[in-house]
Amino acid sequence: HPINIAIDGPAGAGKSTVARLVANALQYIYVDTGAMYRAVTAVALERGIPPDDEEAVGRLAENLDVVLLPGDEGQRVLADGTDVTSRIRTIEVNRNVSRVATYEAVRTKMAEAQRRMAKAKGVVMDGRDIGTHVLPDAELKVFLTATPRERALRRFKEMGDQANITLKQLERDIAERDRMDQEREIAPLLRAPDAKFIDSTGRTIEQIVDEIVEWGRAASRT
Ligand code: C5P
Repeated sequence: HPINIAIDGPAGAGKSTVARLVANALQYIYVDTGAMYRAVTAVALERGIPPDDEEAVGRLAENLDVVLLPGDEGQRVLADGTDVTSRIRTIEVNRNVSRVATYEAVRTKMAEAQRRMAKAKGVVMDGRDIGTHVLPDAELKVFLTATPRERALRRFKEMGDQANITLKQLERDIAERDRMDQEREIAPLLRAPDAKFIDSTGRTIEQIVDEIVEWGRAASRT
């Protein structure tokens, strides 16, 4: 029977790559919850709403229809029907998303949408608060991390043509995002007591995917 799999951890730990491959292997739906917080942030920036204006950003989130569309070429993100997928991974969004993600109105709206997506089971959901808050009953929970240096290096390679940022700056941005994610009051980033812990430093993606798929198959048999 299908189960839900929650994969949480800090930025750059490899969650999205791993979660996507696990979902493919099990024929589950991959849900990237970070993309939803990014979509709210990108739209706020585009509309000139200051990211530190909690009330205005909260109102935006409450009225914005953020939809994730799973697809063969990766997940698309729609905001009020407009495809914003290509606009959510900018340095500007990176620098503001964790503040936006501290707001209660934003988190409430996103968590509700995420729970709806997981209702029918068979999802692999990646984020920060999935095992602790969004899907506390997920049959399999994984906390995936790696050293800060390795995480910054991975993100650095991903950013590629946006190379107007140095590795050092990226490391600082990631550390700042981690700090805000861990210190926020609502649904902070932490390992659920029942989450399996994986440090991906120096391990291949395949090894980690295989491990999680095995756990997933075992959990779906019980
Ligand atoms: O996973 P990703 O790096 O795309 O997430 C972007 C930001 O969104 C995170 O740094 C975090 O502040 C926020 N986020 C969150 N809760 C989630 C997923 C992401 O607060 N479940």
